[in-house]
Amino acid sequence: MAIDNAFPIFDGHNDTLLDLALPKPGQDRNFFTRSEHGHLDLPRAREGGFGGGFFAVFVPSFPRSEADDLGIIFTEDGYEVPMAPPVDLIPAQEMALALVASLFRLEAASDGQLQVVRTAGELARCLHEGVLAAVLHFEGAEAIDRDFDALEVFYQAGLRSLGLVWSRPNAFGYGVPFQYPRSPDTGPGLTEAGRDLVRACNRLRIMIDLSHLNEAGFWDVAALSDAPLVATHSGVHALCASTRNLTDRQLDAIRETGGMVGLTFTVSDLREDGGNDADTPLSTMVRHIHYLTERVGIDGVGFGSDFDGTTVPAEIGDVTGMPRLVAALRESGYGDAELRKLTHENWLRVLRQTWGR
Ligand SMILES: [Zn+2]
Repeated sequence: MAIDNAFPIFDGHNDTLLDLALPKPGQDRNFFTRSEHGHLDLPRAREGGFGGGFFAVFVPSFPRSEADDLGIIFTEDGYEVPMAPPVDLIPAQEMALALVASLFRLEAASDGQLQVVRTAGELARCLHEGVLAAVLHFEGAEAIDRDFDALEVFYQAGLRSLGLVWSRPNAFGYGVPFQYPRSPDTGPGLTEAGRDLVRACNRLRIMIDLSHLNEAGFWDVAALSDAPLVATHSGVHALCASTRNLTDRQLDAIRETGGMVGLTFTVSDLREDGGNDADTPLSTMVRHIHYLTERVGIDGVGFGSDFDGTTVPAEIGDVTGMPRLVAALRESGYGDAELRKLTHENWLRVLRQTWGR
């Protein structure tokens, strides 16, 4: 499929750093060589018109071999996954350092083909020039100490986006357990340390990611933060009643702040039945995008694939399938100006507003 360079895709979430560092058995790969394994590498990114995205630093609760079986329990009408245990500060910092270093090593080895971006100006230039743009993101703040020393240091290194929690408790708040059907209102709000972390992120102008946070925590951030509200990889709860998805009230709050939602490609957060079935048509994704552009507005929606961290629709397959999603959106009625917003302009706008430059 021919790639239209007017629509480079900037994406809200991938777990590629972890997948490169801790591959599944027999699935070792190199980011610069086209692989059959995983969803994202440089050759496939180019083929799919993928201009960049948030590269997550995630510290698993379990060794990778066990992480694929989270102990899911199927219920009469859905599933529940036992809450993953917390991770302590020191092992989290050790792992975070290794993953952050791995991103800088990719940048150094890329011969100018990948850049870690720290400003919206740099991001815009990379998208324009076809340099893969990586935003350094932490998925869960386990590596951040109470005095925020690590936050200062990681910020200086390039950290520009932080999810307060993954789907487990930590010192700052409570993530949602993976469950369907269930509301995201699954527990208490932010801790005092969590509220301080919101203020610290505002001060440093680090974007706060609300995906994985429970609803009480979401409202605490909404009340405290002076930045647009952003969920990097979530879906619509009214269309798929998983805990990871956003209610209409949450979507309205995101709209009011000029924030945005990156639509997750995780099939179990897209399908009405919550099933983990890759045989999920693109029309299911298109339905979520239509709902979001209706509820949050055309300026408040983008993509948040979760490549290398999840099961995506087979029709997408990996990053090379992105043009098929863009084509399906075009077919469903979005024109050029709207597609530019959905593919990258909205992320660029929100990041410029959040980062200030
Ligand atoms: Zn995630």
